[in-house]
Amino acid sequence: MKQLLLATRNAHKTEEVVALLEGCFKVADLSAFPDAPEVEETGVTFGENSTLKAVSISKVSRSLVLADDSGLEVDALQGSPGVYSARFAGPDADDPSNNRKLLAELTGIPMEQRTARFRCVMVVARSGVALGEFEGSVAGRILEEPRGTGGFGYDPLFVPEGHAESFAELGPGIKNGLSHRARAMKEVVDWLRLTD
Ligand code: IMP
Repeated sequence: MKQLLLATRNAHKTEEVVALLEGCFKVADLSAFPDAPEVEETGVTFGENSTLKAVSISKVSRSLVLADDSGLEVDALQGSPGVYSARFAGPDADDPSNNRKLLAELTGIPMEQRTARFRCVMVVARSGVALGEFEGSVAGRILEEPRGTGGFGYDPLFVPEGHAESFAELGPGIKNGLSHRARAMKEVVDWLRLTD
């Protein structure tokens, strides 16, 4: 079976990608490579960060490497938090503090102006060379208070278009069908099938 190394230590992301690949690839992530370099996300776009990660990790592994960078863009905040989604509330941010900051910044903004989207850019690299860049997004709105216990990050505050529940309420079955990562991953899988 073909091997794919995910340039992440985020177990939630790995779980999602494994589910999306439906057994087509043997997937590993950086938890199996404790000596892999720590890549700083210094880019100002999702594409730059994904490229930095995929290219650096592919220099120390023989596998095909897949890196992603993703985040939330909120229209009323001019696209923030964007590439800073993970550390929106500061260097020690965690999911609850990021969600609290997002709600504070949107205080008084009515529901029709709370439009947002999750975006994900994936880059595939081998031997230090980026081979392709793929993108997915999902549009929705930001709730006025968190709802649901599933998922991670901003899931309890994000209701995808066409649904009444947050990503955290919808659960992985539905989220994995329509998420930004699922859509980017579909592009990657189509490309992997064509190139092999
Ligand atoms: P990164 O792609 O690991 O840099 O993730 C950036 C941040 O975006 C995460 O820490 C989350 O806060 C947020 N994020 C990315 N994807 C999702 C998602 O599917 N649900 C909720 N939050 C997400």
